[in-house]
Amino acid sequence: GTEGGFVGVADTDFAEEEKRNNSSLAFANVRQQLGKTYLPLVNGEYIQTTTFIDSLNPSNFSEVIGKVGLLSIEQAEQAMQAAKAAFPAWKKTPVKQRADILRKAADLMEKQRAELSAWIVLEVGKPVKEADAEVSEAIDFCLYYADEMERLEKGVIYDVSGETNRYIYQPKGIAVVISPWNFPLAIACGMTVAALVSGNCTLLKPAETSSVITAKLTEILIAAGIPKGVFQYVPGKGSQVGAYLVNHPDTHVIAFTGSQEVGCRIYAEAAILKPGQKHLKKVIAEMGGKNALIVDESADLDQAVVGVVQSAFGYSGQKCSACSRVIVLEPIYDAFLERLVEATKSLNIGEAELPSTQVGPVIDGNARDRILEYIEIGKQEAALALELPAPNHGYFIGPVIFSEVPANGVIAQQEIFGPVLAVIRVKDFQEALEVANGTNYALTGGLYSRTPSHIQQAQTEFEVGNLYINRNITGAIVARQPFGGFKLSGVGSKAGGPDYLLQFLEPRSITENI
Ligand code: GLU
Repeated sequence: GTEGGFVGVADTDFAEEEKRNNSSLAFANVRQQLGKTYLPLVNGEYIQTTTFIDSLNPSNFSEVIGKVGLLSIEQAEQAMQAAKAAFPAWKKTPVKQRADILRKAADLMEKQRAELSAWIVLEVGKPVKEADAEVSEAIDFCLYYADEMERLEKGVIYDVSGETNRYIYQPKGIAVVISPWNFPLAIACGMTVAALVSGNCTLLKPAETSSVITAKLTEILIAAGIPKGVFQYVPGKGSQVGAYLVNHPDTHVIAFTGSQEVGCRIYAEAAILKPGQKHLKKVIAEMGGKNALIVDESADLDQAVVGVVQSAFGYSGQKCSACSRVIVLEPIYDAFLERLVEATKSLNIGEAELPSTQVGPVIDGNARDRILEYIEIGKQEAALALELPAPNHGYFIGPVIFSEVPANGVIAQQEIFGPVLAVIRVKDFQEALEVANGTNYALTGGLYSRTPSHIQQAQTEFEVGNLYINRNITGAIVARQPFGGFKLSGVGSKAGGPDYLLQFLEPRSITENI
């Protein structure tokens, strides 16, 4: 059936002059706050640290967005103890009260929408419109999971004569959330508030490159009334604080979004029973993709070109939903490629902050170097169809298109996480599906076609978590396109969907003989 009629919030309409002015004001306001120091939140207090990192603007890396204090292992242990101490009261807190904290957080985010967008733009180099959509997604996660927990709280009653049976849910305990930099607000917020509203005490460790925006989320949760110890902001090195919390015997759930390599390591480490541990851990890991769009000979090519360009180069390809392979049927291959190259050439590449920018920078120097290596590999194994120049005061890479890419080539198999697109030629639709399914991943995928039998066949045979027909393959919306994959794209059920909160809960069945 259709789910509850949840309607998400609207993005900003930048066609309105007033909204554009708000946005400029927000940037001016945020710029005045650049370079401040942000500290971890442990047991309701911001605590001093001995090490710090600088979070830089990827569009202009001489600009420091903020300094972030990194937790030591001893401090991570303090945070864990505070979470444990806070759990009994949080578990007993009525669901309505927990849900209302999320609703209050959503309200605060809506009020600070323009500033939050500006922080996202400046800290992770995401263009303004996409940053605004990300704020909407964060708000939707709060509102939707609040509703969802109220739905689940009702449980299920199975009554037979002489016996009542209740099926109810209780929180698991301590949740560790490890969030990515590419949706620094939405995904950090989504995983965190899901854990919290389900009644778990939650420690949030952000990717280092997005620690400032996570500090802003922390401020919002505090203002929304989250009790001390229930939520804690624990920035630190993934290999130290992250690993410590994953391996901790008191951790019950780990919610992770990031690379396949780290996701697989977390899954393995979490499986090992530690001294004193009295339960098995639940791991939710949303990992990578090598997502394909198939364009068949009946496709509307105008539509297909726009959808591919958006899916491949939006946020410089740094979404796990991004299109990194386009599989094109022989009869239209040349025409499609030519139009794709032309359309890509017209993209504006520049600082994320400029309203005209469509493609901003990549996140940091490591990412830039890794992507450049893949581009070199591509030049060995395929034909270079387009390589756009890019400014050099930030971590910019101009969009790159390779044609005649072999389906098993490195750039057709490995996740690059940058603005690099592989175009693959196939003889027919059957081969297109085989190539599309021929990677280790199964996250998003799409098809441009006006052939009903192809559309039908894709629905059953295109092995992805999120399949999009005749549209772009990024930008999933909460409670409309619940998001997540399988195979090596991840483990766990979909964010923004009706099964998500169940992962943070322990079901119990209670029978009373009467
Ligand atoms: N949910 C996002 C989308 O649909 C992608 C999330 C991610 O990259 O982790 O585009």
